[in-house]
Amino acid sequence: MDRLTDFGTPALAANGLAHRYGDTMALDGVTFEVGEGAFTALLGPNGSGKTTLLRIVSTLLKPTAGTAAVLGHDVQADPQAVRRSLGVVFQSPALDKLLTVDETLRVQAALYGMSRPEAAARVVELLGAFGLSDVSGRKTRHLSGGQRRRVDLARGLVHRPRLLLLDEPTTALDPAARAVFWQTVHALRRDEGIAVLAATHLLDEAETADHVVILDRGRVVADGAPGALRAALGEETLWLDVDDAEAVATAFAPDAEAVSPTLVRVLGAAPHRRVEEAYARFGASVRSATVRRASLEDVFLSATGRNLREHEAS
Ligand code: ADP
Repeated sequence: MDRLTDFGTPALAANGLAHRYGDTMALDGVTFEVGEGAFTALLGPNGSGKTTLLRIVSTLLKPTAGTAAVLGHDVQADPQAVRRSLGVVFQSPALDKLLTVDETLRVQAALYGMSRPEAAARVVELLGAFGLSDVSGRKTRHLSGGQRRRVDLARGLVHRPRLLLLDEPTTALDPAARAVFWQTVHALRRDEGIAVLAATHLLDEAETADHVVILDRGRVVADGAPGALRAALGEETLWLDVDDAEAVATAFAPDAEAVSPTLVRVLGAAPHRRVEEAYARFGASVRSATVRRASLEDVFLSATGRNLREHEAS
């Protein structure tokens, strides 16, 4: 039976994936799935293992342990079938700047053995979908950064893959070009039903996903729909920025926990009422008290005890 038509086969199944570079355990037993047609964000600070994971899934790197399967095809046993099922857009654009946009896409079609008429129709379709029809005869070195990224994306999709891997795809783009890029990806999912696994360290990009897998130091620390992960932290929560989080959390026990050396999360009903209590008891050592709904940043903080951005800087 054709595995691609198996009912319920996930676009990607990673099971206990591990990878070690010398002494560095870049991935340490990573298990998660990307559902068929789902948009999954792989969120984590720099160095958390995102690129290593995407390189294993795209068959460029062998895992030290564990397995990964794309549409049921094992990355080690059947790398060719995996590559046919995948579209890949890595961090730095790898376009041949001497080729035109049209030529770039046709070369890719030839690499995948598509017939000329089939390639021609697909190229026209992609140029239209990506707003690149007007620049199809232009050499890619004469394009804007945003246009080049869209050519990269179109190139990854020529052979109609079922899973698109994106590694920090908007890094070099300005906010307007980033927005256009994501609109294009979302339209693509709608029109072609393609599953997406996008590595990012940007919270707002992860917030728009169906599903988020949060990685930290090579491990999955949270996995679920963004709304469900936020809801698990409670509706509204009081956050206290203080000098000594342990001391304040102990005083508020059992409703509070120190999520970092300086941040306390106070749980329980009516958090507004506890703001006054915090100032009354801890006065000057409270730098700020904020009542707000949890964000994915808070999810990361709760799971790791560190701030996503603080960690990046370290
Ligand atoms: P991310 O994509 O989340 O920034 P990476 O997968 O690039 O994370 O890196 C994970 C860890 O593996 C980091 O500690 C990084 O320094 C290390 N690492 C990545 N590539 C190599 C390599 N080629 N050789 C040695 N260590 C590496």
